[in-house]
Amino acid sequence: MLPNFLIYLSKAKWAQEMITRWGIARRAARRFVAGETTQEAIAAARMLNHVGIDVTLDHLGENTTNQGDAVRSAEEVMSMLDQIQAEKLRANVSIKLSQIGLLVDHQVFTSNLKKILEHAADCGIFIRLDMEDSSLTERTLQAYEWARDSGFSNLGVVIQAYLYRSEQDLDRLAARCTRVRLCKGAYREPASVAFPQKKDVDENFDRLMEQLLETSQACDFPRASEDGRTPPIVALATHDLQRIAFAKDLMNRKSIPRDAVEFQMLYGIRRDLQEALVKEGYRMRVYVPYGNRWYPYFMRRLAERPANIWFFLSNFVKG
Ligand SMILES: Cc1cc2nc3c(=O)[nH]c(=O)nc-3n(C[C@H](O)[C@H](O)[C@H](O)COP(=O)(O)OP(=O)(O)OC[C@H]3O[C@@H](n4cnc5c(N)ncnc54)[C@H](O)[C@@H]3O)c2cc1C
Repeated sequence: MLPNFLIYLSKAKWAQEMITRWGIARRAARRFVAGETTQEAIAAARMLNHVGIDVTLDHLGENTTNQGDAVRSAEEVMSMLDQIQAEKLRANVSIKLSQIGLLVDHQVFTSNLKKILEHAADCGIFIRLDMEDSSLTERTLQAYEWARDSGFSNLGVVIQAYLYRSEQDLDRLAARCTRVRLCKGAYREPASVAFPQKKDVDENFDRLMEQLLETSQACDFPRASEDGRTPPIVALATHDLQRIAFAKDLMNRKSIPRDAVEFQMLYGIRRDLQEALVKEGYRMRVYVPYGNRWYPYFMRRLAERPANIWFFLSNFVKG
């Protein structure tokens, strides 16, 4: 119930206007968001790189409603690519397609995506297309396929284990040896499209992990790049100890090279586990979001773990 309400709030304009005005909310969001400026995000990335963790930078933004904002969002992404280059970071970039105009205008959107991919290719940087709610799954996969068919190879997608369709989507993506980030899924979806029970999502995550590893094997285990920018085919985005244990066991049993798999986690969550995996010799990448459009991202992090509400409220008390 509470998670659903928080996801509802994450999309409600009135709640956004109210909550983002609270300094206390902004302070609480800082647990999950590196800062509002590019400099703050770069500093966070540098610190992570320093301890052997690669990074994905995300300039926050989604559901852009007009052409001007869509073009500005694409320009922000391109300037972030320049910063990664200038700072020689072990980092790549995530974008949301609704951020660069998917819901505004097809031509504006494709022109933005093309510009980003061209600039990223010039800089040798990989672009991950984040996955949004299920109304955009098919359009996101189609945009990916369009980009690959247009000659871009420096991009990959995200598959959500809570969706029933994901097994078929992975089959479809296997044909292009697609680099996939596998996650559980962060939106509120109806039972007609997604497993309502966490147990089923977890089981599906493990099944999809095996499927993705098979694809990687069939594609000859493409490795992560040495500069920490291009991930392998298999990126497992979870903080769930059981899923991570399952992955380690599978890698051992099947003698899968360690650099053919990357674990991914979110900034501000389980830093201890991030560093422990690096010490064990696994590849680790942390997703570092930044910018002033942090509200929906922050609300999804609260929804994932109702205990975070207490963390938020404790900021009120301290406030
Ligand atoms: C790198 C990365 C990229 C992602 N990209 C996408 C995407 O493109 N689209 C999408 O829909 N979702 C995305 N997600 C979010 C994902 O779908 C899940 O909602 C989120 O990762 C929580 O699921 P979990 O696998 O960690 O498992 P859970 O079972 O939810 O959590 C396992 C454990 O992780 C810790 N944990 C998890 N979430 C939190 C939290 N918010 N606060 C504090 N502790 C927490 C807790 O210790 C918890 O017990 C991404 C996640 C990661 C790590």
